[in-house]
Amino acid sequence: MRAIILLGGPGAGKGTLSENLRRRTDFIHVSTGDMLRAALQSGSPVGMKAKSFMESGSLVPDSVVLGIIEERIEAEGAHAHFMFDGFPRTIGQAEGLDFLFTKKNARIRHVFNLVVPHAILISRLTGRRVCRQCGAVYHLINKPPVRPDVCDLDGGGLYQRADDSEATILNRLDVYEKQTAPLIAYYEKQKLIRTINAGEPPEQVAASVLDFLGE
Ligand code: ADP
Ligand code: AMP
Repeated sequence: MRAIILLGGPGAGKGTLSENLRRRTDFIHVSTGDMLRAALQSGSPVGMKAKSFMESGSLVPDSVVLGIIEERIEAEGAHAHFMFDGFPRTIGQAEGLDFLFTKKNARIRHVFNLVVPHAILISRLTGRRVCRQCGAVYHLINKPPVRPDVCDLDGGGLYQRADDSEATILNRLDVYEKQTAPLIAYYEKQKLIRTINAGEPPEQVAASVLDFLGE
């Protein structure tokens, strides 16, 4: 079992990169954001615990997030390889992951730090649209669907995430700086950080990451 971590502010392009890598590697995409949104929609106990945090753009408690991650890792079996998208997001979560991986004799191979200027993050988040059916991610300017508000892949309706509103975005960027950015130093100590210029177009971002994976 091995893993890569996609680290970066909200809107840095983690989901878009995951979609690219999913097609070209054997890493299983694990997005805690997607898992928590699914839990919220189904009204499960995890969803109920996460709701207020997600609506305000704050972080869901570490114990809840580590619980769903452990369950997922167990479910995929001993030979799975993971790409974590939006996890870990705090030092506590990173320590929890290290603990889980030590138990399983598993290794983190790379932590890709997707670097994008703040102003670009904001325009990526305000322009993001998502397919209600399949979760495909679009952007009003950077990646518009062929027909407005309709998914190219399955004809599903596109929606704007509730937390992609301007007020919530500013809180999410602040939360990122305070609680998640310290992970860069945490993983630098383990010599795992690979800095990626994620202001480039998606294909180029994917190519930079694949260069590291090819080594
Ligand atoms: P994250 O998962 O990090 O929050 P997403 O992958 O959902 O980010 O991307 C946020 C928005 O930016 C989406 O609308 C997406 O289409 C757009 N986007 C993602 N990567 C790029 C890129 N490299 N260049 C331009 N736009 C991008
Ligand atoms: P994302 O889809 O990654 O942008 O996440 C959306 C929201 O889900 C975040 O603003 C948090 O409220 C919550 N969330 C997702 N992943 C985590 C995590 N690893 N730790 C805490 N909260 C998370």
